[in-house]
Amino acid sequence: MERQRIGILGGTFDPVHNGHLRMGLSVLDSGYLDRLLVMPSGLPPHKTCSAPNEDRWKMIVSACACDDRLVPSRMELDRSGSTYTFDTLTSVRHEYPKADLFYVIGADTLMQLRNWHRSDEVLPLCTFLICPREDGSRPAEYLSELKRLSAKGGRFLDIPMKPLTVSSTAIRAALSAGILPDALPVPVREYCRCKGLYGYPGRLDRADLWIEQLFSSLKPGRFAHSLSVAETARKLAEIHGADPLRAEQAGLLHDCAKYIPMAEMRHIAAIHHLTDDPAILESGALLHSIVGAQVAEDRYGMTDSAVLEAIRYQYRMCRDVPPRNVRLPGRLNRTAPQQLSASGKSPGPFRTVAGTCPSAFAGRHCSICGIPRKVPSSAHAGNNPMAQRPGRIGFVKMP
Ligand code: ATP
Repeated sequence: MERQRIGILGGTFDPVHNGHLRMGLSVLDSGYLDRLLVMPSGLPPHKTCSAPNEDRWKMIVSACACDDRLVPSRMELDRSGSTYTFDTLTSVRHEYPKADLFYVIGADTLMQLRNWHRSDEVLPLCTFLICPREDGSRPAEYLSELKRLSAKGGRFLDIPMKPLTVSSTAIRAALSAGILPDALPVPVREYCRCKGLYGYPGRLDRADLWIEQLFSSLKPGRFAHSLSVAETARKLAEIHGADPLRAEQAGLLHDCAKYIPMAEMRHIAAIHHLTDDPAILESGALLHSIVGAQVAEDRYGMTDSAVLEAIRYQYRMCRDVPPRNVRLPGRLNRTAPQQLSASGKSPGPFRTVAGTCPSAFAGRHCSICGIPRKVPSSAHAGNNPMAQRPGRIGFVKMP
């Protein structure tokens, strides 16, 4: 069996940014590693963190959802006392006795290596992979330090990577000035925004509760997706003159019922009389949005009917051709009886329709993007970059 090649990317990640992600992905793509443990430090000896540990952790989990080879690790976060790389490498070696170990650093960190706790003993424990920082230059003092550390037994490899000029310090400064930096991964940007981290103004009410519940009930990729959707929904609402706050909330909560077991979703649907249509009750994809609106109300305290409606109809708000057998509430049916398919089902709270964006029959504005529905769905798609993507959901998915 081939030896495993495991890398560690340590840092305060306060917050994690695209520079970190670019480092991680460049290292993985360079072929040196099979996987990279992304490890936020607990109590770093030389720094203090602005954001609480659990926020830094959740942001890392959401950022790492972009690639399976990026594996968030709580090893340092859960260790009491100061975080030392020597202890980390020793623990990882213990866990993976036969693996080749690599430690990923930015070029600036090389200059600080001599100050690390037991630095001489750290050197033989791993191979260092160095990513360029700032303009990628290697001044004389950098080269002489590299030479000195190599003479002490350190092994260093340069990673080919286009440098990205970004730091957590600059990001914290931007956020406290009310600017959402592009150099943050989308879910992290939304995380900082809705929780008002680093002094960003205008946090969402109940953000702590929602984030906590979403994080504990969704898989990491779905959690990241929900944050991304919240940002996309807010941006689309801004473009189209709808209410950005409502759009953001609907985006954040739209998948809150994902991963509720089918039996439990059916139970929720039954006790709240959401639908008795067997086609919906058989489909997790359709049922989770209807049940999601109920869950958003009951467990997340959402009372805004426009937001609940957006969650309920997420699969058919802005899509060119909604899935067959889409169900809409009876009150919408009354405005567009010609749209009803001959389902043959007895009238219930939901009926079957097919063809165009459902709000088109309602004769009102989409509660998310704000575009009047009395237009052909293709024209609507023309205004909505998301809706032009085949198989994508109108307002909720990221490109
Ligand atoms: P701060 O500004 O708070 O000091 P930071 O942006 O340097 O934070 P850290 O979490 O301290 O981020 O960095 C973890 C590791 O990532 C370090 O080895 C650092 O050198 C490296 N690093 C951070 N940003 C970049 C970047 N833009 N390019 C290359 N390496 C980076």
